[in-house]
Amino acid sequence: MAEPVRLLVVGSVNMDLTVTVPRLPGCGETVLGFEATHGPGGKGANQAVAARRLGAAVRMAGLVGDDAHGAELRAALAAEGVDASGVGVAPGAATGIAMIMVRPDGDNAIAVAPGANAALGPDVRQAVAGGGSALLLQLEIPVAACEAAAEEARRHGMLVALNAAPAPAVVDAPVARLLRLVDLLIVNEGEAAALGGDGTAAGLRRLGPDRVVVTLGADGAAGADAEGAFQVAAFPVPAVDAVGAGDAFCAALTVGVAAGLPLRAAARRACAAGALAVTRRGAQGSLPRAADVDALLD
Ligand code: ADP
Repeated sequence: MAEPVRLLVVGSVNMDLTVTVPRLPGCGETVLGFEATHGPGGKGANQAVAARRLGAAVRMAGLVGDDAHGAELRAALAAEGVDASGVGVAPGAATGIAMIMVRPDGDNAIAVAPGANAALGPDVRQAVAGGGSALLLQLEIPVAACEAAAEEARRHGMLVALNAAPAPAVVDAPVARLLRLVDLLIVNEGEAAALGGDGTAAGLRRLGPDRVVVTLGADGAAGADAEGAFQVAAFPVPAVDAVGAGDAFCAALTVGVAAGLPLRAAARRACAAGALAVTRRGAQGSLPRAADVDALLD
């Protein structure tokens, strides 16, 4: 049997605090909600858990605060089988928090306080020294940390994947440098537009990445590599909650490419993973397992 993909995720670890509300409050307004829940989140941690459920051996590097949330989140990663030894504790910082208000129909408003995630610096390159098949990054940590990790990963011959989410406010010199270190870029339509060019996968290749996939929600995904551009249809599913779809997609695509699948085949697998995530509620709870993805692909 082929060796499992060894993936390193360098990224954010957040506690999601969610309140279900009948409608989103306006400025200065208080709305009485229904229930409050808290659970693990952050694009980095979500993608690490997604990749683990898809069968990869996953290590995660990042920072939490010296508080109860931080301890709970590290334990949650370990419980999923993710090696969280690279998730450090930032003294004096609070663990990152996402405050989520969600309506019964799924529409939501989210505010994120990065906390310890913002303290992650270029010294994260030490966590990359252990090597692996691929590095997966997102933009919920400082770009300087991403750049250092990407540089180190290239030195070790690892595939460098970036989910450029959330979209950078400006494509400044550090972001442009990071993009030139990336082999596989994954963005949604809004992020594609923010990165400039014509927003197409083929256009984004000119920024540096050899392989680009743009996710299109219920329309699937579009991709481009050296062989040309392609479209992959979405899997028709009853959509319940889009949270987690992007993270499932990014993990599945990166694991697929790192395992040697052609980009188009990996994108099809990623669409199946994204579709399964929209059929279930929640961030990490909705992330599918490899067997579910295989079943949908059959
Ligand atoms: P993001 O949440 O990051 O904006 P998308 O909404 O583009 O990402 O969703 C990521 C992927 O999840 C899509 O490329 C698609 O494969 C899958 N997906 C999302 N919404 C649906 C849906 N309603 N039906 C089927 N697949 C979906």
